[in-house]
Amino acid sequence: MAANGSAFYCRECVELLADYMDGTLSAQQKEQLEDHLSHCSPCVTFVRTYKATARLCRTHLAAAMPQELSNRLHNFLAHGLPPRKV
Ligand SMILES: [Zn+2]
Repeated sequence: MAANGSAFYCRECVELLADYMDGTLSAQQKEQLEDHLSHCSPCVTFVRTYKATARLCRTHLAAAMPQELSNRLHNFLAHGLPPRKV
């Protein structure tokens, strides 16, 4: 049980994780997240899974994607997403 008055909970940890991976968190948020991770093993497990999944997707997609498709995807991303149909 954390008794130091920390108002940082697992939910926030999960919500900040994507930004943490992108490196876009403020120094304070990053510190809070890392502090939380230092004493919350479920969140540590979650982070590990999250990282492993992201890595797996990247390597798997990169390996499975033909060069032409990759080029097209880059092109597509460079020109932005088309407006979404409603
Ligand atoms: Zn947690």
